[in-house]
Amino acid sequence: MSRTFSILKPDATRRNLTGKINAVIEEAGLRIVAQKRVKLSTAQAEAFYGVHKERPFFGELVGQMTAEPVVVQVLEADDAVPKYREVMGATNPEQAAEGTIRKLFALSIGENSVHGSDSDENAAIEIAQFFTDAEIVG
Ligand code: ATP
Ligand code: MG
Repeated sequence: MSRTFSILKPDATRRNLTGKINAVIEEAGLRIVAQKRVKLSTAQAEAFYGVHKERPFFGELVGQMTAEPVVVQVLEADDAVPKYREVMGATNPEQAAEGTIRKLFALSIGENSVHGSDSDENAAIEIAQFFTDAEIVG
């Protein structure tokens, strides 16, 4: 079993889609072993997406991620990181495969409904930014 970190983004919470997205996650065989709804501060969003700080969309991304609450989650499965990336679909919803979360729900490349870690190493870093070990109950 391994873990990945997930965010249901503001475009999803704003449209009351957290239950529908969680249903897709669970039907794909990922288990939600920690979850909470939080409002990210600008500093938190900037730190979280720090790898993109030189990109032209960075300001827009931080603005979107702090505009409304998000739901942060730890997901568990065999090969959780690649499995969740597959369930999420491509970053640009126009390129996302049928049945993926982004194909089903995303509004645009920026407002694309979910985040998922891109490596086991980053999953561990991102989980530790939001959860203590005691809050993760497998
Ligand atoms: P995430 O890291 O959120 O799971 P990802 O790994 O599919 O998404 P990244 O390349 O890491 O994609 O980009 C991080 C986020 O930045 C995207 O999910 C999206 O919200 C935003 N983003 C990426 N590219 C663009 C773009 N060209 N224009 C606007 N926003 C973008
Ligand atoms: Mg990414």
